[in-house]
Amino acid sequence: MLGAQQIIGVWERGRRASSHDRALLLAELALGPGVELAGLAIGDRDRALAEQRIATYGAVAPACVVCPACSEGLEFRVDFAAVCGLGEPGDRGGSFVIEIESFRVEFRLPSTADLLAITQNAAHGRAVLIERIILVAEREGDRVSPSSLPVSVIAALEAEIERLDPISDIRFGQTCPACQHRFVAPFDVARFCWHELDVDARRLLQEVDVLARVYGWSEAEILALSRARRSTYLEICGVS
Ligand SMILES: [Zn+2]
Repeated sequence: MLGAQQIIGVWERGRRASSHDRALLLAELALGPGVELAGLAIGDRDRALAEQRIATYGAVAPACVVCPACSEGLEFRVDFAAVCGLGEPGDRGGSFVIEIESFRVEFRLPSTADLLAITQNAAHGRAVLIERIILVAEREGDRVSPSSLPVSVIAALEAEIERLDPISDIRFGQTCPACQHRFVAPFDVARFCWHELDVDARRLLQEVDVLARVYGWSEAEILALSRARRSTYLEICGVS
């Protein structure tokens, strides 16, 4: 569970950072030091973030998405307990193999470091990712270049990654109540968790501002109070 001091601290470190670096900051809080965070499979990283979210704020979260047809805002609920239930728990750090047609491909699951590499070479993102995650590609026992693999093999590889690491590719089917348009909205666990933490950190700082003015307490004293105590003092001074 994240305390108020931790929330403000990580928010301060990450507020000007990229989304990938923010995900790593959250993972560092969830998993502690000593874990090679950038190399962690996205699903393992995001499962840790989802568990941290449940411990801090509970399992169910309000979320919203904009209809791509009419721009109406749709609200829905995300159940992080269900997110954590996707796929098998456990470390996805090893290598995996698929055999299709006459090809054998040994690969690892994408990590935050891979997503950062794609960002730096967005024009060739898919090719960059394939090159990075394929450890060995063979055709009838002979080594071949990952870039020479046929589309069907790459499609099978992508499907296998999705099967092995479903948290890394969550999508919610939506129907717009305004225009009935049906669409599929991707849900990024790390982005959501950062946005939520950003909102919470700003609210906490507002609470510090009010309580410091009224009672003369320091920031550290106010953040050390429980949420229940802070909100009750805010009620007493007529601010909540
Ligand atoms: Zn719509």
